[in-house]
Amino acid sequence: MKTILAPPTEENLARAAQFIKQGLLVGMPTETVYGLAADAGNEQAVKAIFTAKGRPQDNPLIVHISSLDMLEKLAESVPEIARRLAEAFWPGPLTMILPKSQQVSDTVTAGIGTVAVRFPSHPVAQRLIALSGCPIAAPSANLSGSPSPTRAEHVLRDMVGRIPMILDGGECQVGLESTVVSVSEDLVRVLRPGGITVDDLLTVASRVEVDGAVLHQLEAGRVAASPGMKYKHYAPKAQVTIVEGNLSAFYQYAAAHQESVTYCMVFDGEERNAPLPCITYGSKDDQRAQARELFDCLRRLDDLGAQTVFVRSPSREGVGLAVYNRLLRAAAFRVVSL
Ligand code: AMP
Ligand code: MG
Repeated sequence: MKTILAPPTEENLARAAQFIKQGLLVGMPTETVYGLAADAGNEQAVKAIFTAKGRPQDNPLIVHISSLDMLEKLAESVPEIARRLAEAFWPGPLTMILPKSQQVSDTVTAGIGTVAVRFPSHPVAQRLIALSGCPIAAPSANLSGSPSPTRAEHVLRDMVGRIPMILDGGECQVGLESTVVSVSEDLVRVLRPGGITVDDLLTVASRVEVDGAVLHQLEAGRVAASPGMKYKHYAPKAQVTIVEGNLSAFYQYAAAHQESVTYCMVFDGEERNAPLPCITYGSKDDQRAQARELFDCLRRLDDLGAQTVFVRSPSREGVGLAVYNRLLRAAAFRVVSL
């Protein structure tokens, strides 16, 4: 199959919506990461998502909407707290887990009784959903296990020959996947951290808890609240280690443990006078910049042929919690404290 990389003109959007209506997949820019979009109501199209990505069947998809009317059809009921969260953070990088309606197929939800719903803020995503006229199931548009795509070229790399079209919406503004929450009465539980932070959620909910799987490896036999959290994820080909400590201790450790092709992933400015080759991922105090750059850095490390990577540990404040969560998985939970 030929894959077209196209700017999101009205003509190309109409063409993309036509592909969706035919049950094909389209690379769609959103404010979080690029999505692999399909008609959520078309069983064959949804199955094709799993095939194109090589995604495990038990990892459910997020359904994207472009109006609140679409929400009512997907969710069996919408609790009061979810309505308040929607009002505060939609459109935006927040996904809510809600009881699913009969309309939503078990293929979309991997057989779970709930459905994950998000209303993206990216104008191209909104327009594509509206033109397609249906809720859109869309996971990140990468091959399963590799870093999520934050630029159209990343999607092209992973999906060339597998999908007919990618809409090029430039670089994603958040750069990490959405915050995923489950809700019950006044409690909001963060299953996956993202661009909407715990502090943001606290402006609406009186209680916010972070699920244990966000920062810890799931024990064998335990069921994941968010199935995606159990997989090794976001990983470049290199062995990645997060190293906690001050900069000089970090470089000392990296120099002592370097192997054939070793890189350090450090904050902006820290690459000066470094004893090893470095790439940078945003300034130390700017968690949003780190989030934006993280996945592109992980992909560049692959291009550089890195085999061993040592990463400066980010702060877990604000969006930093999401950055740290993704790095932990890229590192398969290898963390060294100096
Ligand atoms: P991705 O589409 O690659 O961003 O992954 C979607 C994430 O949402 C995965 O981590 C899933 O585990 C999570 N998710 C989707 N649907 C549900 C659901 N019904 N319950 C819990 N987590 C979900
Ligand atoms: Mg993904």
